[in-house]
Amino acid sequence: MDCIRIRNLEVFGHHGVYREENKLGQKFIVCADLYMDTRTAGLSDDIEQSVNYGEVCKLIDKHMREKTFYLIEAAAEDLAKAILLKFDRIERVELEVKKPWAPIGLPIEEVSVKIDRKWHDAYIGLGSNMGDKWDNINEALKKMSLDDDIKVIEVSTLIETRPYGYEEQDDFLNGAVHITTLYSPSELLKCLSEFENLAGRKREIHWGPRTLDLDILFYDDIILDTRELTIPHFDMINRDFVLNILFLIKQ
Ligand code: AMP
Repeated sequence: MDCIRIRNLEVFGHHGVYREENKLGQKFIVCADLYMDTRTAGLSDDIEQSVNYGEVCKLIDKHMREKTFYLIEAAAEDLAKAILLKFDRIERVELEVKKPWAPIGLPIEEVSVKIDRKWHDAYIGLGSNMGDKWDNINEALKKMSLDDDIKVIEVSTLIETRPYGYEEQDDFLNGAVHITTLYSPSELLKCLSEFENLAGRKREIHWGPRTLDLDILFYDDIILDTRELTIPHFDMINRDFVLNILFLIKQ
């Protein structure tokens, strides 16, 4: 992917685990690789079609000066998130925070932390068969769109489906939503579980009635099978509606 590269921006900050560092401050150096499609900007020669790297540098300078972190890991995390939230065109950022004067009492050229963060593509299955089903699902979508770390891209139509596994229960209202997210898979699962709990979800009967069910169907193109997470979602092949809905929004 195309990339705008910011090399060795010198900034001042008060980050460090020693009190003197927080009080006196010191020099930090920041590098940022901003991954985005520069084709339209390149052909139109129009700054509106690109990202103004001067503005990115100002944001880095402001965050590094005005916030204080113990760790450069935390400073880097804060910068990467701020850049990805502010500049819509940037899909991924590789960010390095260097500390040339790290006070370790030994001669060292520099120490740095380098991280790679991006908007991940995910598809979430939506389901409800208790209470006001429409309201439960719409409320979950609202919570997703209010979460800084999630962008709702497209919501499928919602359809009624017959229950599966445990059939003595009301029909489900089901759908899917395409999002991009800064969360890792397990952070996303935690966030979705919180939304389920806020909707009053109780886990009493396996496959039983539920106010809200949010499943991670896909997350980028990863294949994962741990104790807490299976991606792509293990139950997807048994549920025709998932494939029908995904077909609608993956066009
Ligand atoms: P349920 O709410 O009945 O769908 O089950 C939720 C549990 O399934 C969670 O506690 C997860 O640990 C586990 N799980 C495994 N894979 C997934 C996935 N892809 N999406 C959501 N939950 C999953």
